[in-house]
Amino acid sequence: PARTRFAPSPTGFLHLGSLRTALFNYLLAKKTGGQFILRIEDTDQIRTIIHAETAIFRDLQWAGLQWDEGPEVGGPYGPYRQSERTALYREHANKLLDSGHAYRCFCSVQRLKELAEARHKLGLPTDYDRTCANIPKEESDDRAHKGESHVVRLRVPDVYPEYEDLVYTTFKPLHQGRRAADAFEDPILLKSDSHPTYHLANVVDDHHMKITHVIRGSEWMPSTPKHVALYQAFGWTPPEFAHVGLLVDEQGNKLSKRSGDIGIRSFREQEALPEALVNFAALLGWSHQDKSDVMDLQELVQKFNLNFTRGNTIVTFGKLRFLQRSHAAKRIEESGDAMKEIVDNMVVALEDKYSADLAEILGKQDISLRDYVTKILKLAPTRFYNSEHFISQMSYLFRRPPVSPLTQTSEGITGSIAAAAKHRFSEVPWYGWKRANLDKKFGEIMLALNPEVSVDTPDAPQSTERKNVKRKEVWHYLRAVLTGEEQGLGVYDVMTLLGREECLRRLGVEQG
Ligand code: GLU
Repeated sequence: PARTRFAPSPTGFLHLGSLRTALFNYLLAKKTGGQFILRIEDTDQIRTIIHAETAIFRDLQWAGLQWDEGPEVGGPYGPYRQSERTALYREHANKLLDSGHAYRCFCSVQRLKELAEARHKLGLPTDYDRTCANIPKEESDDRAHKGESHVVRLRVPDVYPEYEDLVYTTFKPLHQGRRAADAFEDPILLKSDSHPTYHLANVVDDHHMKITHVIRGSEWMPSTPKHVALYQAFGWTPPEFAHVGLLVDEQGNKLSKRSGDIGIRSFREQEALPEALVNFAALLGWSHQDKSDVMDLQELVQKFNLNFTRGNTIVTFGKLRFLQRSHAAKRIEESGDAMKEIVDNMVVALEDKYSADLAEILGKQDISLRDYVTKILKLAPTRFYNSEHFISQMSYLFRRPPVSPLTQTSEGITGSIAAAAKHRFSEVPWYGWKRANLDKKFGEIMLALNPEVSVDTPDAPQSTERKNVKRKEVWHYLRAVLTGEEQGLGVYDVMTLLGREECLRRLGVEQG
């Protein structure tokens, strides 16, 4: 069983990229029957945003990624907020000082800056020059006791650590000796305010929380050799690492707010269904063998493996729209509680927009808005994307259009159709306003419009003058005056949904 973690810093809100990272870790834990841990990496108090933490919790729960251990739920290896674990990090920094794997660096910020500038001018790497690396331990202790400002640095080993990356194959040390191209300077573990850096806190916590697998964005890859060096210094076994490529836009730029890496909040505001967004995030840089891409969280757990794509993933949103429709249709077809949310959103949006018109349309039919909306969704489950889109697509069902001038025409074919439609449909009583009866009336209209062609005498000779009106023309007319659109739901569906009074009004029948 894998123990994985999602370790956000509360310096921002959950966005697509971080949701994906959390999801992959969640899926691996669940797939293997392990635990998914949430840890808040708030060592950088200055950059911490108030409320970000709670917002992250709520967004994760909305997506269905409930953590087994972490803030709010606790667990055996807590606390799960780094700001509450400072003593542990200091203790571990001291251990490394004692074992000689770390040393105190008393160099001032000013000196480090000058050093970097000087080395830069000479075309040398601007790494720390290890001036303090050889200060004898007693002297170092003494200066620290006297309150001299310092940081604690890791003494990077001369032989670079190797690690296996589950995605990026083997990471080989590309360099021999300390100052080769990929060399890194002795990283700071404790800052001068004796707060830990990301490296120290991250490694100490992953070890103490018994993390077995770290799945994180490839932007953290440069940190990994430092982490591995730290594990070695402590004498600990590092976890497995899997670095997943970054999300980029079509131009190859890191996904930004403009290119769509918007917060989970805005997806929620647009009524994204959690299962659709999670499904979408899962498919970014991960591949599976299944026929269908449409999977809910449970199915994702079943199908999950570590077949991540190497390299960055281009994000386009067409897939999200497809998944949103597919998952919405699934909810609608299954009805029940899952669908309730879609109906709720629709009702709120409709009451906001068309309450007066709807009162007219529904008042005469004695049907509630909820039932009306449910009926429509059931007729067109695959057309639902979100309320706003659905309402604008089918606005004719919710808003009363002005009566079409076509209904007032008395000349030509249109005039004949208008008259026949008014006459025949008025004959249907409210209690008979059903598909079968409407169809019967449609047949009568066709007969009335084509006196020479009767159903009983299908072989009757055609008149040379054009008198016969095609069924298509009548459909077209009805759709035009009833909906004002060229396309949409079936005409009988529209008619039964709108009800007798509203249809007759749209057909131009004077009503008393
Ligand atoms: N706190 C880091 C972040 O904000 C965690 C990186 C890691 O997973 O090691 O992403």
